[in-house]
Amino acid sequence: MVLTGAGISKDSGIPTFRGKDGWYKNHPPEELATPMAFNKNPVLVWEWYNYRRKIILSASPNEAHYKIAELEKYFPCFLLVTQNVDSLHRKAGSTKIVELHGNIFRTRCTNCSIEFYEDYRIFKDDELPPKCPHCGGILRPSVVWYGESLNRDDMEQAFSFANKADLILVVGTSGIVYPAAMLPYIVKSHGGIVVEINPDTTPISEIADLKIKDSAKSAFSKLNFDLKS
Ligand code: NAD
Ligand code: ZN
Repeated sequence: MVLTGAGISKDSGIPTFRGKDGWYKNHPPEELATPMAFNKNPVLVWEWYNYRRKIILSASPNEAHYKIAELEKYFPCFLLVTQNVDSLHRKAGSTKIVELHGNIFRTRCTNCSIEFYEDYRIFKDDELPPKCPHCGGILRPSVVWYGESLNRDDMEQAFSFANKADLILVVGTSGIVYPAAMLPYIVKSHGGIVVEINPDTTPISEIADLKIKDSAKSAFSKLNFDLKS
């Protein structure tokens, strides 16, 4: 099992939330990625999402995304759980994947709940906040914000997999966003192995059986799989 966070996409040019670049117009993400922030100022939140969509559209997967996509071919029982909303794992070829926090190119109506997936959509300034073509309600990014519940099926898939996983590879996550951060603890609790790849120390480091203190791109570049063995 693999759990990834924003750190894996940093080498693809997408800022993390907690790094020094992870700020937008002096608003910390915890103040923008919330239902309250959206109710208060949907235009500001949409400007931030447009800005992030633009960065993500110009980014490509790196060695770490590609190697993880390869891993699923080696293990018949495999699951990638990502907290990222950037699609880079899918672009790299991963198919056994749960996007726990949604996808940045999905949009949902706050009134009738209809969902749209528009791969390349950047809304124009005068379209903000965008309106639902069906009912005229305000559209919101269909991602999981702080304080919101995760999709039930995604949760169920990730947590039941962690309950039987022999090993979890934890890559580029601060380990402080719950419930995603529980997954390594669940694997550990039934005797599974925890491997962490992160240049910094996180709460997960304390329970890691193996800690690779390196960037995801560099660590995965050194991993070579032998297809025949
Ligand atoms: P985070 O920003 O809280 O933490 C990033 C972690 O990555 C840190 O522990 C940092 O030490 C580590 N890191 C930094 N550079 C790295 C590198 N080159 N290689 C490996 N690790 C590196 O991110 P999080 O834990 O994913 O949680 C924050 C929330 O942010 C999530 O809910 C996620 O949905 C959202 N987010 C997503 C994206 C994305 O989709 N790319 C980007 C920013 C934030
Ligand atoms: Zn609607």
